[in-house]
Amino acid sequence: MPFLKDGEIRRRAGRSKEILEMNNNKLNTTLPDENEEMVIDTEESTDGITWKDGRRIVELFSLAKALNSCQNVNCTAQLNLLNVEKEKLQGFGSYLTIRCLNCNMLNNILTNKTHYGTKGPAIFDINTKAAIGMIEAGIGPRQLNKFVTALGIPGATAKTLKKREREIQKPLSEIAKTSCVNALQEEIEKTREQLNVETTNGTDIPKLTAKYDMCWQKRGSGRSYSSHSGVGSVIGQNTGKVLNFKVCSDHCRICLKASQLGKEPENHECQKNWNKSPKAMEAHTGAELLKILEDIGEHK
Ligand SMILES: [Zn+2]
Ligand SMILES: [Zn+2]
Repeated sequence: MPFLKDGEIRRRAGRSKEILEMNNNKLNTTLPDENEEMVIDTEESTDGITWKDGRRIVELFSLAKALNSCQNVNCTAQLNLLNVEKEKLQGFGSYLTIRCLNCNMLNNILTNKTHYGTKGPAIFDINTKAAIGMIEAGIGPRQLNKFVTALGIPGATAKTLKKREREIQKPLSEIAKTSCVNALQEEIEKTREQLNVETTNGTDIPKLTAKYDMCWQKRGSGRSYSSHSGVGSVIGQNTGKVLNFKVCSDHCRICLKASQLGKEPENHECQKNWNKSPKAMEAHTGAELLKILEDIGEHK
């Protein structure tokens, strides 16, 4: 190990301690229930970790505005961040309980903006953004938490992050569909450009050339395929872009949960669209995707 200055050793030791403490705290997932109206989700714990520890992701302007005036209508005093009495973490967002020294009232201040889903309480935008970030980076809650705890930011529970992933599922798949429509148009145009060149040479009428493959959520050994779901995609030869895709799944979490409880599943966007062998998924999805592209092609 190279020679380190005393300051560096202390800094490193301090950081290791900080991470260790935060990770230990994550194991404890009970939360005192006072201040009920401010609790979005009681999965997170602030036990043992105070607002003075580590770092947070904060929307500065949002926090600055909230601190600008006491929430008591008869008081116009500014709040001081140093008067935080309690912090409640919800994923990467925090609820801070700040006492106003002018009127003595406790204020509930949020460190980030929130939004509402179709049902349930307010959701911190930062948690939804974290779910988008995980998908962008191709990582899961475990890797995300390793990264943020290394920065000294308390992690979010897998349950919170998975919930937020489900929230963005539908809009993301709509964006993907639009992107496919645009890619298909681009592929057709590029092929037409080629067609003009090639027909002058008297070659065959070119059709769209594409590659198809399916990837699985679980690795297959070549002989056994037991994955519950896979994504088939068609990639255009000229653009290298995905022209169409389909998720094939023989599993739905909501249906499964309902059947375990012996109940009818609630109205939901069912993920299950396959009930035959996983092996047959690939060929079936490929054929279906090409059929859809052919149908579109007839109308172009
Ligand atoms: Zn006040
Ligand atoms: Zn279902």
